[in-house]
Amino acid sequence: MRFGDDPESRNYIDDTGRRGGFGGGFGGGNALGCLLPLIASRFGIGGVIVLVIGYFLLSSLGGLGGGGGSITPASQVGQTSAKSNLDPAIKHFSLQVLGSTEKTWNQLLGGKYQPTPLVFYSEADNSGCGMAQSAMGPFYCPNDGRIYLDTEFFSELSRRFQAPGDFAMAYVIAHEVGHHVQDLEGTLTQAHDLQARASETEGNAIQVKIELQADCYAGVWAKNAKNAQGQSVMEPGDFEEGMRAAEAIGDDTLQKQSQGRVVPDSFTHGTSAQRMEALQRGYTSGDPNACKF
Ligand SMILES: [Zn+2]
Repeated sequence: MRFGDDPESRNYIDDTGRRGGFGGGFGGGNALGCLLPLIASRFGIGGVIVLVIGYFLLSSLGGLGGGGGSITPASQVGQTSAKSNLDPAIKHFSLQVLGSTEKTWNQLLGGKYQPTPLVFYSEADNSGCGMAQSAMGPFYCPNDGRIYLDTEFFSELSRRFQAPGDFAMAYVIAHEVGHHVQDLEGTLTQAHDLQARASETEGNAIQVKIELQADCYAGVWAKNAKNAQGQSVMEPGDFEEGMRAAEAIGDDTLQKQSQGRVVPDSFTHGTSAQRMEALQRGYTSGDPNACKF
């Protein structure tokens, strides 16, 4: 990718130095956050690293209203914890990506975009959706309107999922920003209302649509993102990196790896083929309307 010396977003919170600072009760899966119960029921907790982008359980979002979530007080944003262990290069790149999503989505939404803070953490952190844990993968929490990212996930993408590359990392962030856009548009609230009346299978189908739209939005961002020199931030080979990542983290692929079989009813993010198609649709069109469902 070609970000040059583009500015970093200032909308971040570095919690990486707060490792282990959350009291007891964390071991053994007792401190279940709002994301973990569903993951546990699908994959089993026992040591399985579940890498699910943007795993959030809509049915637990009882307090969500109006979209946008609560806005982080300005005083908390831009903070770095005392003993940060955030890799400076990862931080710089992530915040350039975040800054680019802010600029691009503001243009796409006619100046109505409200930025979302990105919380970097190590191993565990408190979120408005309960305990954030590395095993959840990155996620967006509508309750506090923040993106949570354990940057170890980037290493996992490259090592475990053989999907390396800067755009693979950018896609992860842009997908979560896509959920924030859905939040601003009221789509998450609508999905939540629909899910409240749906069976579990139907509820999962709704969530798949939400996830695929976030993938599509990531593609829309990539297509429209320009650096400070007005060039596309995308270089040859970048899009293919994103497609490899989308393929690697499809529900069917993850399920085969973790339990050796595929259970389509329990899909919540879409198959590898669906995720690749959604990312491509957004990227080819560059138009958020192409992501409607
Ligand atoms: Zn997601």
